[in-house]
Amino acid sequence: MPLTPRHQQPFKVSVVVPCFNEEGNVAELYAQLCEAVKEYPDVEFVFVDDGSTDSTIQILEQLAAKDGRVRPLALSRNFGHQFALKAGLDHAEGDCVISLDADLQHPPSLIPALIAKWSEGYDVVYTVREDDPSLPWHKRATSKLFYRLMSRLSSVDIHPGAADFRLLDREVVEVLRQCGENHLFIRGLVSWAGFSQVAMAYSPNPRYAGRTNYSLRKMVSFALSGITAFSIRPLQLSIFVGLFIAFLAGIYGLYVVYAFAFTDRTIPGWSSVAASVLFIGGIQLIMLGIIGEYLGKTFIENKKRPTYIVRRRKAQGAS
Ligand code: UDP
Ligand code: MG
Repeated sequence: MPLTPRHQQPFKVSVVVPCFNEEGNVAELYAQLCEAVKEYPDVEFVFVDDGSTDSTIQILEQLAAKDGRVRPLALSRNFGHQFALKAGLDHAEGDCVISLDADLQHPPSLIPALIAKWSEGYDVVYTVREDDPSLPWHKRATSKLFYRLMSRLSSVDIHPGAADFRLLDREVVEVLRQCGENHLFIRGLVSWAGFSQVAMAYSPNPRYAGRTNYSLRKMVSFALSGITAFSIRPLQLSIFVGLFIAFLAGIYGLYVVYAFAFTDRTIPGWSSVAASVLFIGGIQLIMLGIIGEYLGKTFIENKKRPTYIVRRRKAQGAS
């Protein structure tokens, strides 16, 4: 897709930050953000407080009282990172919307570079974490495994190490707004949405203050919901298992017939029971797989995602 540079001036920049118990980080983050966006006249900071139990929201309110660009948004409880991010995206009003984590692992100093790429005409500028040798090996290994599984199992391709640190054009944000799914996996949705996307590498900083809110349990459930929200292949698995078992049952059935006809190793009634149990078991698994296939289709349909997206921004020279 040829790129059309954006010349629209002035434009508004939104920065969206999901915050959960980040009282030690938001002030420093705010300072770094101000520094990073100082050359842009029209900016808003949408801080989403994801039901924090510490003083995060008070600090945000104080910042908002001093600086009209700060828009705190408080959720009624802890909904989780993806939903806090979605809430922020839904409320952001900018022509381009940048999302990053509150813990300063995503360097705000990269923001001008993201906006420069957007001005070149890209609709999505996503960032890819450079492999960080200080990260524990099991975190790196599980993350690699996840992305590999994800691209194997589903039709969306997500760049390994892609983070929720990215710039989205207004048009892409509007597409995401239409996605009211209950199993949110925004990284997958952004990739699924299409448009012209470009990657940018960054090296993550260590967490500034506090500790990670992603426990192993949250990570596993995040990975599972990522895969099942975009793929129905796990359901199809039982078809193959069923076919395989039916095949083995067929071979064993032949042996049963042979043992019955040509040897005296069988007791009366055994052959027919063994053969029918195996056969029925195989058929059942196949039928389960077929049901799974239909269930999966209903599942995908139920999400009521738009089936295609018409791009509104016209290419240069088009009328
Ligand atoms: N976060 C959130 N709700 C949650 C958990 C995390 O809004 O339930 C935010 C958190 O404040 C941070 C971002 O999501 O801005 C990433 O979380 P964290 O740094 O704990 O995850 P990690 O970087 O370890 O993957
Ligand atoms: Mg973090």
